Amino acid sequence: MNTTTATLWVGKNSLEQVEAPLPEPPDEGLLLEVEANGICGSDLHFVSREPAAPLVLGHEIVGRIVAFGAGHPRTDAGDAPLGEGDTVALFPWVPCHRCWSCRRFGPGAATCEKAFVYGVPLDEIGLAAPRRASGDSVELTGGFGRHVAVRAGTYLWKVPPHLPAAVASLLDPLAVAVRGVDMTRTATGTWDEVLTPDSTAVVLGAGAVGLLTGLVLRAQGVGTVIVTGSRSARLAAARDIGMDLVIDRDEVGESARRDAVLDLTGGRGADLVIDATNSPAALGEALAMVRRLGTVVELGNIVPDGSTVAVDPARDICQRNVRLLGMSFNPPRSYSEAMALLGRHHDIPFERLITGSYTLDHVAEALRDISSDGVKVVLTA
Ligand SMILES: [Zn+2]
Ligand SMILES: [Zn+2]
Repeated sequence: MNTTTATLWVGKNSLEQVEAPLPEPPDEGLLLEVEANGICGSDLHFVSREPAAPLVLGHEIVGRIVAFGAGHPRTDAGDAPLGEGDTVALFPWVPCHRCWSCRRFGPGAATCEKAFVYGVPLDEIGLAAPRRASGDSVELTGGFGRHVAVRAGTYLWKVPPHLPAAVASLLDPLAVAVRGVDMTRTATGTWDEVLTPDSTAVVLGAGAVGLLTGLVLRAQGVGTVIVTGSRSARLAAARDIGMDLVIDRDEVGESARRDAVLDLTGGRGADLVIDATNSPAALGEALAMVRRLGTVVELGNIVPDGSTVAVDPARDICQRNVRLLGMSFNPPRSYSEAMALLGRHHDIPFERLITGSYTLDHVAEALRDISSDGVKVVLTA
């Protein structure tokens, strides 16, 4: 029998290398051999908890098609033909097509209440986890393993041959950045428009999503992009990718950070603030540095940590007509846009954000790297 290996999350801060039988490709699905899997901040968060059931984590998956299951359409989400040996990146959400959200908004809205998500503990992100009997064999559903069994109905994008697999694994966090910026767009000429060549945007957080957001803002022609963050390697990366002002949170206190933004904007405040930290307090900071009729996007606080933030709705939102948008899902369309941007990797410095790379059997080391100074850490075959 053919076997494969995977790193299983078995307990609080506890990972285990396991061997598992290599399954047949699922009907209308396929079997992938993982080439690269990005480590996400949320992986770090998950591992620090007790799993409801042992799980192979990893949702930023790029792999080579080993075999198709019967009935797979053999095309990707953009209708490009797929063959064995092709490299694809996958959209981690598989919608059910049946729940109220799927019927109301369509399966592509990624708001499915019963979605399956690759490499993510469903209970941690507010989805109902299917019950599993103990003693079940390891399910190959995450990129922390050498193979992934790809289910029917999974959106795939063919990776262009000139794009390295590690860079392609930025697709998922880049889609978050693309969607976060995209949702601020308005019909031309309305008061709320903030994506303009003379606007100033602040990105709170210099992790991978924050810096990818900076690159997307730049690609959208936003005039001035300010990034605040900590940790020297992340701040150096922010400078290297051409952010206009990089503020070290450890050196510059909250009121001085706000003053720096006001100084650069004639005392008005930033047109757009995007929170890509993982800290509830950052929402208060975002509201304090945005201008009247400005936009704040909250996309960093995806997993609740139990703490809350004080907001004065009158002063912080209402009186200044602030538009506050929340984002946790990115539809397949954002992945298509993100893949198009990755295709421009010779012009946009995505590679600079990959600060660490480990083989698939060194997940613990990769997690340690991302929890210290790394920007984006990638597992590779
Ligand atoms: Zn992620
Ligand atoms: Zn659904």
